[in-house]
Amino acid sequence: MNERVGEIREQVVEAAKEMYERGLVASVWGNVSARVPDTGLVVVTPSGVDYRIMQAEDLVAVNLESGEVVEGKLKPTSELQMHLAILRARPDVNGVMHTHSIYASACSAAHKEIPPIVEDLAQVVGGPVSVARYALPGTAELGANAVRALTKKGAVLLANHGVVGVGPDIMEALRVCTIVEKGAQIYAIAKMIGSPVLLSHDDVEYLRETYRDHYGQK
Ligand SMILES: [Zn+2]
Repeated sequence: MNERVGEIREQVVEAAKEMYERGLVASVWGNVSARVPDTGLVVVTPSGVDYRIMQAEDLVAVNLESGEVVEGKLKPTSELQMHLAILRARPDVNGVMHTHSIYASACSAAHKEIPPIVEDLAQVVGGPVSVARYALPGTAELGANAVRALTKKGAVLLANHGVVGVGPDIMEALRVCTIVEKGAQIYAIAKMIGSPVLLSHDDVEYLRETYRDHYGQK
């Protein structure tokens, strides 16, 4: 096994278990992928394996361009096409996480974007979490729609489905998914209390930039 692939397998399985522990997915839903830098490979979670028993060796390494399985015995996630589409379109992204967290999925079901109403959400996303056009799960169309709505931001909602969070590594994608869910909860509660006040475009830009600079120094 390639040493770098082994390292990324460990990171992906840790992030996947944490995603489950945080209640961002139920049972076997959701999926995680990470680019193996300088190899043209991507490590993805397998299809249908319970996160509680998932091991690093259950993950699958695939070719970024062809999607062909290079290493691993199990079938890759059914959302492989979407993960690859995002990683091909965003060279700055090395980690992609897809969750079905409840409040964010509620926004996706209502086709309502989550506006930047709190600072941490603005920092990790860099604007509203937009809703991608509906497409059936597992299709290339879902990936294309997700890429189109994601633009250069940190997260996107898949209509009537869930969330995708991205980052320079998989732990950052996990953080993004967690903050998007928290932001969706705050948005829903703020709407019950009154009218949520959006952060200005300039403030969102400033928050995003300073967050990125800080992240780069770690
Ligand atoms: Zn899904």
